[in-house]
Amino acid sequence: MPSNKKYFICIIFILLLISNLACAQDSETKYKKERDWMVKIQIENRGIKDTTVLSAMKDVPRHIFVPKLYRMFSYEDRPLPIGYGQTISQPYIVALMTELLKLNKDSKALEVGTGSGYQAAILSKIAKKVYTIEIIEELHIKTNKVLEKAGYDTIKTKFGDGYYGWEECAPYDAIIVTCAAEFVPPPLIKQLKIGGIMCIPVGPPFRVQNLLVITKKSEELLETKVITQVRFVPLIRK
Ligand code: SAH
Repeated sequence: MPSNKKYFICIIFILLLISNLACAQDSETKYKKERDWMVKIQIENRGIKDTTVLSAMKDVPRHIFVPKLYRMFSYEDRPLPIGYGQTISQPYIVALMTELLKLNKDSKALEVGTGSGYQAAILSKIAKKVYTIEIIEELHIKTNKVLEKAGYDTIKTKFGDGYYGWEECAPYDAIIVTCAAEFVPPPLIKQLKIGGIMCIPVGPPFRVQNLLVITKKSEELLETKVITQVRFVPLIRK
């Protein structure tokens, strides 16, 4: 090949590379704008005040947890499909449940229902350590890769039935269940610290459920508050 032809191909290649990088940069800027808007309109305006929650919601790139097909809707006010009949929760519900857990930088949190990994990523921005369990193996494997690639190294994931919690790492300051249970799983109560908080949707599958906040006052005493009505995918039992 004549050397000026080689030179020409090389220039075209470099130009393509630069334009690709510029496009990627552009879409990150676009997503950041959408995310800031999402936090202002959908979250702050609905009464979420905890600044640690607001900054976590501004920081975590929700679009990397959404399948490509739905990515353009990442910052809309709704849940989205993540495959296997499961969904990533609506941003407001993620923020509300996170705020209800009253996490701090020393908290150890357990999540039942890893799903896309988005809720775990939000928790990890505030808590010291996050443990999350997923019952669908394919989803567990897929999400593990996303979390690893994005560098969420304070999140530990496990494939299994979250009904039983994660006993080896208990007790937890906070437990969040992101699938609807027909009753509160006793192993989860057991694995909550005294003074710890659990946030869990309880009610019939595929219908409206009550979002509960349970505070473990002592080994015998639980304080339960109904926060609002929600609609979560069911907690699956093996
Ligand atoms: N927190 C998730 C929401 C996922 S939807 C997110 O941020 O994307 C609920 C998830 O709970 C689904 O992935 C579902 O497979 C999982 N799930 C259902 N029953 C479960 C169980 N018994 N143990 C662990 N995970 C369960």
